[in-house]
Amino acid sequence: MVVLAALVAASLTWMSAPYGRHARPRWGPLVPTRLAWIGMEMPALALFAAVILGGSQRSQTAVQLLAGAWLLHYAHRTLIYPLRIPASAKGYPLLIAAIGFIFNAYNAWLNAEQLAEYGQYGEAWLADGRLWLGLAVMTIGMVINVRADNVLLHLRGPGETGYRIPSGALHDQVASPNYFGEVLEWSGWALATWSLAGVAFALFTLANLGPRAVAHLRWYRQNFPDYPRERKALIPYVF
Ligand code: NDP
Repeated sequence: MVVLAALVAASLTWMSAPYGRHARPRWGPLVPTRLAWIGMEMPALALFAAVILGGSQRSQTAVQLLAGAWLLHYAHRTLIYPLRIPASAKGYPLLIAAIGFIFNAYNAWLNAEQLAEYGQYGEAWLADGRLWLGLAVMTIGMVINVRADNVLLHLRGPGETGYRIPSGALHDQVASPNYFGEVLEWSGWALATWSLAGVAFALFTLANLGPRAVAHLRWYRQNFPDYPRERKALIPYVF
């Protein structure tokens, strides 16, 4: 996954993933956006839960705590977030949804196996500051991510598909505060699990969403002459 992250970062730097505002016609058939999100995120919820339940360390409290944090994120991403996208949304490329499904299955398996089979999360880990600091960073990241997505999902009136300049919930600082929150979440996960699987996922998230945040910022500047110049792409005041 670390190698994949490097390849993804390199590819997405010269070509943005073709969905949402960066959609392009030659990427094949579209499927309903809500269905695409539920389908491609489902392995991260269902497969992860199944692997944890079958894991030899499933009764460890720290394993349950960490699995709970993961499942909270993915219950929201798989079952709540998609239903908040308007049913009238313009559609999502089947190919991108299929790639998302495969990635989520691989990532869920990797992180769940690490957590419930190979990791060392006995009683001592419950007293380790890395667990609690990591969970705190994850929580802050999730709050930033959900608040930023909330703002975006309220920008359009019924049936509208155009774009406006967002404000509030860190949108005044960066073009993609939802991605900033997501990167924080999985950096927190890497710290709380202290695992190569966690680090790999955090790196992949940065590799995937960093270039997309840059593309979003460029797109806003090209399409809105009054887009505030001081806004950065991903990390407030920094990048
Ligand atoms: P975007 O910010 O591109 O879009 C989110 C939603 O808001 C879409 O429905 C989009 O519509 C709408 N929207 C965005 N900007 C505007 C605007 N200026 N005016 C009106 N509507 C707007 O996010 P993504 O779709 O890429 O991602 C959604 C969520 O999934 C995020 O929370 C992200 O962090 C997460 N994610 C996580 C990944 C990971 O690697 N862990 C990978 C990808 C996403 P439209 O679709 O029409 O543009």
